[in-house]
Amino acid sequence: MYDVIIIGGGPCGLAAGIEASKAGLSHLILEKGSLTESIRRYPKMMRFFSTAENIEIGGIPFPIAGVKANRTEALQYYRKVAGYFKLNFKLFTEVNHVTRFVGEADQPEKTDDLFTVFTTDGKTYQTRKIILATGYFDKPRWLKIPGEDLPHVTHYYDEPFQYSFTNVVIIGASNSAVEAALELYRADAHVTIVHRADDFRKTVKYWLVPDVKNRVKEGKIHTRFSTCVTRIEPGRVCTTNLQTGEESELPADFVLILTGYIPDAELLQECGVELNPETQVPTYDKETFETNVPGLYVCGTVMAGIYTEKVFIENGRDHAKAIIDHIAGKPVRKVAELIDRI
Ligand SMILES: Cc1cc2nc3c(=O)[nH]c(=O)nc-3n(C[C@H](O)[C@H](O)[C@H](O)COP(=O)(O)OP(=O)(O)OC[C@H]3O[C@@H](n4cnc5c(N)ncnc54)[C@H](O)[C@@H]3O)c2cc1C
Repeated sequence: MYDVIIIGGGPCGLAAGIEASKAGLSHLILEKGSLTESIRRYPKMMRFFSTAENIEIGGIPFPIAGVKANRTEALQYYRKVAGYFKLNFKLFTEVNHVTRFVGEADQPEKTDDLFTVFTTDGKTYQTRKIILATGYFDKPRWLKIPGEDLPHVTHYYDEPFQYSFTNVVIIGASNSAVEAALELYRADAHVTIVHRADDFRKTVKYWLVPDVKNRVKEGKIHTRFSTCVTRIEPGRVCTTNLQTGEESELPADFVLILTGYIPDAELLQECGVELNPETQVPTYDKETFETNVPGLYVCGTVMAGIYTEKVFIENGRDHAKAIIDHIAGKPVRKVAELIDRI
């Protein structure tokens, strides 16, 4: 029997483990992949947009030679922090179901929040409280178009060199799409960005905008704005111009669909958490992060619904403090920024 089980071993789940440990609560972190699995799967050459100090957890400094960490430095840092706090985790252990014990009808308040956590390897774990910190990186936003599941199509960009001297169509015009396009162009891929709107998204990092726009102006990266891909076939994609209705084709040895990710609604609902049908934001208390399921909390990006750009490590790491304060019966520290955001 644990005081807290944390589902997900990303930065926010680790922060929850650290706070639990500092508060003297027994904890277990169940992680379906490796430690900080999402970051491990990020593009190999990525650099965080946050400064290193803004993605620190547990009050442990994150010293690097520059200002912003890259993927390898972040992986090293979170691993060392997890070791330093002797966090208790089980890796490669996926949770697929959670049930909450409901007390006798005449004394429901006496339940003390007993949960059973079920994992896909058939094991069960008992705990008093649950913190869901499963992030959003496992569920790409599928376009639901024919051919999206073909082998030359991916929703994850890894590294540029496998694409050199090939035709690559990137669907989407967000940060991920722009960063991938620039890396691919610099690795001699022939890149075309296809996007529904008439320009890059406004959320693209300001320092990337001149780089990508100048490459487009020079004809080194191609764009088809106000255009959607209607089907993907081996070697090509079919597109429709949303303004003129004109249909055409583009050569595509590879297709990268970089239209973002979304928290796993199924797992949340499996745990009894209610979701706003439009925004997919779970029902939770804005100060304690307890959901409509008493004793079950959301922590980090999992609470963002469709607004995944609003909750990230910088603000998500502090949820853990409020959650553990609430579980430990202490005055709850405020996470002000998020309360204004969603
Ligand atoms: C390319 C890129 C760059 C970014 N740069 C920044 C940045 O500079 N600054 C910033 O603040 N944010 C940044 N972000 C966003 C940030 O990485 C995420 O918001 C952050 O990882 C959220 O942390 P988390 O712990 O909530 O979720 P995650 O890091 O996604 O961790 C969730 C964990 O839960 C595990 N999991 C999922 N389902 C289950 C299950 N059923 N059972 C067990 N385990 C499960 C996953 O394997 C994963 O390890 C970036 C994101 C990307 C994609």
